[in-house]
Amino acid sequence: VIAITGLEKSFDELDVLKGVDFTLYRGENVAVLGKSGSGKSVLIKIMVGLLRPDAGQVWVLSKEVNELKRKELDALRLRVGFLFQSSALYDSMDVYQNLSFPLVMTKKQLTKKEVDQEVYEALDAVGLTEKVNEMPADLSGGQRKRIGIARTLILKPEIILYDEPTSGLDPITSGEINNLIREVQERYNTSSVIITHDLTCSKHTGDRIAMLLDGKFIKIGSFENVFASKDEAIKSFYNYNF
Ligand code: ATP
Ligand code: MG
Repeated sequence: VIAITGLEKSFDELDVLKGVDFTLYRGENVAVLGKSGSGKSVLIKIMVGLLRPDAGQVWVLSKEVNELKRKELDALRLRVGFLFQSSALYDSMDVYQNLSFPLVMTKKQLTKKEVDQEVYEALDAVGLTEKVNEMPADLSGGQRKRIGIARTLILKPEIILYDEPTSGLDPITSGEINNLIREVQERYNTSSVIITHDLTCSKHTGDRIAMLLDGKFIKIGSFENVFASKDEAIKSFYNYNF
């Protein structure tokens, strides 16, 4: 559902991505691991057309993202959910409004009853129906992540891009989010890219692991396969996590 070849991206003198090749197959989750600043967020922003690459091709759901017109890109984004690193909830809106907003803006023909139903279904999927009238500021970090996930689910995306879904969470809450990512994969039949520097997260949520280093994927495979590598950078990434 995603195919990337020869992707390059620089900011002024800084070469961030230097020839990324990547495939996401239907129904799988790939966890992308890499150091802070290695370009993980840049990579998924390019996947949804928030940043333009300098070179290479980016196919998402059979469309070349960089050749799309504004309207086509908007249409594609409805099919690709994006969980921002910061969750990015609207602080002035309660949970109900945060979830209904994208729905009302994109499917204007829905009745109030239908919107209610979708909101409750998404909240149910993340196990937080009782928070429907809370304000984001009153939620814990883990709950904010869950609501962020619910907000991507509300549009029934085919692909979900998670940027650091467990960052800033304690190990137990992180584990719950990891389980949720797996539940979502089954319940909504999604394919996902999970950006993380948390090895446990990558192991639990990824069917494959992709290791980003110096602007390229140096290794893609199962968790065991990737970390059996003799590569010094991979070994040190592993050792620093434990
Ligand atoms: P982290 O794990 O800390 O989130 P990351 O791998 O997601 O890191 P990116 O956010 O992708 O890192 O950033 C990669 C590099 O690109 C960084 O050096 C960053 O400063 C730079 N960068 C990202 N976006 C921009 C931008 N819009 N303009 C200039 N430089 C940018
Ligand atoms: Mg990032």
